[in-house]
Amino acid sequence: MKRGVGLTEKLLAHELAHVLQWRLLGVFGFMYDYARFFLRHGYARHPLEMAARLAEQDEYFLHWAREILRTGRNQPEEQLNP
Ligand SMILES: [Zn+2]
Repeated sequence: MKRGVGLTEKLLAHELAHVLQWRLLGVFGFMYDYARFFLRHGYARHPLEMAARLAEQDEYFLHWAREILRTGRNQPEEQLNP
């Protein structure tokens, strides 16, 4: 089997991008912006979703996802300060 980025890795990288958005915007800020952008752009061109889709191809998020899958732990601080 060809080695590549697995579906689980991609999905997890996508969700991790949302986790960062959530942390940056706060719970209510995220919910407010998500709803506001959804009404304006729909899902396909939603800015927060477009950013999360980019994360599926981004080595930082993929590395973070792999570490979670490997260790079962979520410690982004270790990735930020190796
Ligand atoms: Zn998403």
